[in-house]
Amino acid sequence: MTLMCAGIGIGATSTIAIGKAYCLQTGQIEACRRTITAEEVAHETCRFQQAVLAARQDLKAVREQIPASTPTDICAFIDTHLLMLEDVALVEAPIETIKSQLCNAEWALQLRRNALVKIFDAMDDPYLRTRKDDVDHVVGQIQKHLIGQYDNSVANEDDLKGRIILAQDLTPADTIHMRNRGVAAFVTECGGPMSHTAILARSLGIPAVIGIHRVTQYLQHGELLIMDAEQGVVLADPDERTLQHFQKRVEVEQAHIASLRALVNEPAITADGTDITLMVNIELPEDIEATNDIAAAGVGLYRTEFLYMNREHPPNEEEHLASYRQIVEGLNGIPITIRTLDLGADKEADGCCHDMQPASNPALGLRAIRLCLKEPKLFRPQLRAILRVSVYGPVRIMIPMLSNLQELHTVKSIIDELKRELKQEGHGFDPEIPIGGMIEVPAAALAADSFARHLDFLSIGTNDLIQYALAIDRVDDEVNYLYDPLHPSILRLIQYVIQAGRKRGKPVSMCGEMAGNPLYIPLLLGMGLREFSMQPGSLLEAKRIIRASDIGHLTEQVANLMQHIDEDDISRWIPQLYPVTH
Ligand code: PEP
Ligand code: MG
Repeated sequence: MTLMCAGIGIGATSTIAIGKAYCLQTGQIEACRRTITAEEVAHETCRFQQAVLAARQDLKAVREQIPASTPTDICAFIDTHLLMLEDVALVEAPIETIKSQLCNAEWALQLRRNALVKIFDAMDDPYLRTRKDDVDHVVGQIQKHLIGQYDNSVANEDDLKGRIILAQDLTPADTIHMRNRGVAAFVTECGGPMSHTAILARSLGIPAVIGIHRVTQYLQHGELLIMDAEQGVVLADPDERTLQHFQKRVEVEQAHIASLRALVNEPAITADGTDITLMVNIELPEDIEATNDIAAAGVGLYRTEFLYMNREHPPNEEEHLASYRQIVEGLNGIPITIRTLDLGADKEADGCCHDMQPASNPALGLRAIRLCLKEPKLFRPQLRAILRVSVYGPVRIMIPMLSNLQELHTVKSIIDELKRELKQEGHGFDPEIPIGGMIEVPAAALAADSFARHLDFLSIGTNDLIQYALAIDRVDDEVNYLYDPLHPSILRLIQYVIQAGRKRGKPVSMCGEMAGNPLYIPLLLGMGLREFSMQPGSLLEAKRIIRASDIGHLTEQVANLMQHIDEDDISRWIPQLYPVTH
């Protein structure tokens, strides 16, 4: 008998896993109220403080064990949890409750948890709403120590290799332990596409299916499972034929992954001889290793927002410079495109913009270049540092979220002024440093010709372009289903930008998620795109597709498709552009 459960699939390098189920007991511990005497308050307070301390030590130990290759967002999650364990809102309020209500520490912590979760629940921003998971994870860690149940179960478990983990939810710390112990996949009850678990699965390259309600009740510990992250399904107790079918798929997938490594030093050139530039998107100095490992042609997008996060004051020029210099030098001469600050909307850094009023519609408010032009103290030190770092390697400046030419002219005059300043001060810089702009607002896409005239290069940011063109908040689960890169309006906007760049002789690249999606690469090649920038993990597969593609054929096919985008469902035609069959 085969039982099938369906959820949201998170594909990694591999998408199929076959293995025995490992049921992990997670989830919230239900605390009970116990009344204590006034004499017991000191003891109870001490118990609570010790549990917090122990939870902190556990997490610090995990933080120290994180291998250098671990993606930066995982470290950011752990750092957030560590900060929460030091936050008075979480660790001091329960002590007050123990005193005022004469109750046990578990109950006082539970009350605090409920109050904090209520605050998160009331938030408008769906991304922030999901951050109540952080509260639950941290509270869960303290509760385990309080009730003496903390057995480090995942950390000490040797038997996880090749297992498919079933859990209600997973903490970042558990996830790291599991990756280090070679788990095959995981399946969780909680989570949507923006949840921790989804983000962690993508970053760590572990296939997962998330959001199968009550999966830990349907499936049993030790039972044989097949997980297909491509379809978002889990099969339990498969019959022999099903098992053989999936075993074959695993073999094919493994061989494919191994064959991709052979492409590292091969050129990204199409079957009919057109050179394509394949670059990566990075966020931190730690990402240099992955960039060099796959021999990327350059960095097409360096998101600098991380420098501004989790701190009280914006970084000064020297801090910017030190960070950029480490990256530029680490890249051994390949070009890097440094995007100026894109804070606001989904990228928050409260500490850097103390006096900012909360926007009623942040995605349409003071973000990216709008914020920078209003706040010279954020922008000028960054621009000066980018100019100064250009003596250490080939550097380009990229401006996010341009919507009109006036913004661009203002930025260029600031850059000219800073160049004069630096010259007077005796600092070196590349006087011809290229200045490019991100085309991610529909207005800018439709005015791409004017932008191309005044910029050295354009880069299409499809994540935002789709959000703004289709009027769908990119972090809102409720409208995610409308997020459609193949919408005729999006394809027309992209094509228009590529043509505008070509007409003006200015390179056009794409650095939104669409650029790294194997399904869309042939379409984009056929539209005339020659520069792609993507997550390092997607680059070798992109190269494989490019090397098997025929530009002449694709150009003809896509021109034909574009003639019919209003009449036909274009997604039906996309697989036919794909050059190689698996
Ligand atoms: C984009 O909008 O496509 C993009 C690459 O920028 P970000 O995802 O950082 O907003
Ligand atoms: Mg963007």
